[in-house]
Amino acid sequence: MTELDIHESGHAIMFDALDIPMEFVTVAVGCGGEEASLEGCVRLADENNPAGDIVMAALAGPGASFFIAGVADKDSIERYKSDQRHLQRIHADQADAGRQDEYWSRLMAFLYGPMRVWLLENRAVIVRFATMLSAAQTLRGEPLRQALDSAWSAPKPDLTLLREALQDLLST
Ligand SMILES: [Zn+2]
Repeated sequence: MTELDIHESGHAIMFDALDIPMEFVTVAVGCGGEEASLEGCVRLADENNPAGDIVMAALAGPGASFFIAGVADKDSIERYKSDQRHLQRIHADQADAGRQDEYWSRLMAFLYGPMRVWLLENRAVIVRFATMLSAAQTLRGEPLRQALDSAWSAPKPDLTLLREALQDLLST
C-alpha cells in the first residue's frame, strides 16, 4: 500500500460519508490523464454538490497523507497541486469570498483541527479501503460500492458537527 492509495482513500471515504456518489476511484492515473505520481483521481457521478462538502472531501486526501500515511506535513498541502487548485477555485467562485490567504489559513486550521480528529477516528476505514484500492488500482460501479460497504465496519458517522466546524471557521 502506498501513500497515494491512502490519499485517494481519504477523498473517497469522505465523499462516501457525505453520501456523494462517485463514478470511480483510481490510483492508476490522475484526473487530467497525467501519470500517477502524487495524485490519482476520484470522479464524481454528479458535479452539483454543496461547496462545503467538496471542501471537506478535497482536504481529506492531503489530510490522509499527513495524518495516516505519515507524510511530513512540513511539505504542506501545496505538494498536492490538483487539490490546491480545486480549493482555490471553490474560493474564487464564492461571491462574498474574502482574501485568499485568509481563506487558506482558515482551511488549514480546519485541516489540522477537526479534520485531523475525524481522519484519525476513521483511520481503520480508510486503511481498509486503501488496501482494496491498492489491489484493484481502479474501483467503479458495483465493486466500488462493495469496497466502500466493507470498509465501513459500523454505520457511517454523522457529519453534522464536522460540517458546522467548517462553517464556523469560514464565517468568523
Ligand atoms: Zn488529492
